[in-house]
Amino acid sequence: MQEASTSCLPIFQEIAELVENNQLKILRAFQQHRITDFHLNGSTGYGYGDEGRDKLEKVYATVFKAEKALVRAQIVSGTHALALGLMGNLQRGEELLSATGRPYDTLLKVIGIHGEDGSLRQMGINYREIPLTKEKEINLEQLGTSISPQTKIVIFQRSKGYEWRPSFSIEKLAQAIKIIKDNFPEIICMVDNCYGEFVENQEPLEVGADLIAGSLIKNPGGGLALTGGYLAGKENLINKAALRLTAPGIDLEVGSSLNFNRPAYQGLFMAPLIVGEALKGAVLAAKFFQLLGFSVLPQFDEQRTDIIQAIRLGSRELMLSFCHGLQKACPLDAYVKPEPALLPGYTDEVIMAGGTFIQGSSIELSADGPIRPPYNIYLQGGLSLAHIKTGIMLAAEEMNKTKSV
Ligand SMILES: *Cc1c(COP(=O)(O)O)cnc(C)c1O
Repeated sequence: MQEASTSCLPIFQEIAELVENNQLKILRAFQQHRITDFHLNGSTGYGYGDEGRDKLEKVYATVFKAEKALVRAQIVSGTHALALGLMGNLQRGEELLSATGRPYDTLLKVIGIHGEDGSLRQMGINYREIPLTKEKEINLEQLGTSISPQTKIVIFQRSKGYEWRPSFSIEKLAQAIKIIKDNFPEIICMVDNCYGEFVENQEPLEVGADLIAGSLIKNPGGGLALTGGYLAGKENLINKAALRLTAPGIDLEVGSSLNFNRPAYQGLFMAPLIVGEALKGAVLAAKFFQLLGFSVLPQFDEQRTDIIQAIRLGSRELMLSFCHGLQKACPLDAYVKPEPALLPGYTDEVIMAGGTFIQGSSIELSADGPIRPPYNIYLQGGLSLAHIKTGIMLAAEEMNKTKSV
């Protein structure tokens, strides 16, 4: 561990600079919109005139360089945010094209790969995807020629999800978006920004994307937001998504924030720091498990665009013991032993470790993965480097016991 920590010091320095840039960006947005104590309070019932809620959306819009943002407690998850963006902006006969291969598992049901009730496919919206190249990059050549007259939205996924592939940096997204915009300026470029917020100095809207969406129990909630999701982008696209969230005629005027505002503001303010800690933990885990002889993705010193660290453990037993060890390091439910389970929508059993203050929060220390060869575990989050360090040490210790049995 000592050797791993020492190797990581130059990378930690780079992360410190990233945190400073993003912290300043958020601080300025708070000041520009003159946020005051009053905005931290919430509303009940219809939530008419909830200035705290409305100002939070303005702050998000400024931070992500958007015309408008939708940030609500009523958006139940990242998947819901993405679905609002898609369903609000696609009509019967139009087509959604995925430029980054197969999307994240939960999105497949929104698309309706198997004709799910209420899915895009059932609404008469077509779906196609461009597989990644052999090198697991975006197929830029094919992207240029894949747009059909029906194509309305091209969606990109920044983070790798449960895939053993590099995540797509802002630079790579910029390249791909430019190819579309140069030839088809009217096509909507949407980015699934989950796990990507504040990992780079720029966000997707700054390089030509029209719409982004994500979850507040990941990066932008800073570990404090109690629930929620966000969308940010062009005003007309956000308005259409809002009609889906509420109802025509109601738009964004309603939606009580209850006790959502205060932790959502403070969480956004803390997000650069917390993302920095999660990044340092991911870098350390990469070096530590690489020194133990495991394949890792990305390498500790590779450029990052999300907080996910994949580690190829090579057996079911090691996946289980990794999770058992990590669970022992959690502040809540440390006495629980995670078990693999078949979850709806997945073809293989999935194991998850994490004892978090916010249920299911993956900006807090957690690990998961489908139990299938080559047995990759995906580690993410952690509110402090010290905690993540403890987590990976206990995971390794538990794995060691398994090996010696
Ligand atoms: C987490 C995530 C989502 C959304 O997941 P929720 O659990 O619904 O918040 C979508 N795409 C990617 C790449 C993700 O990591």
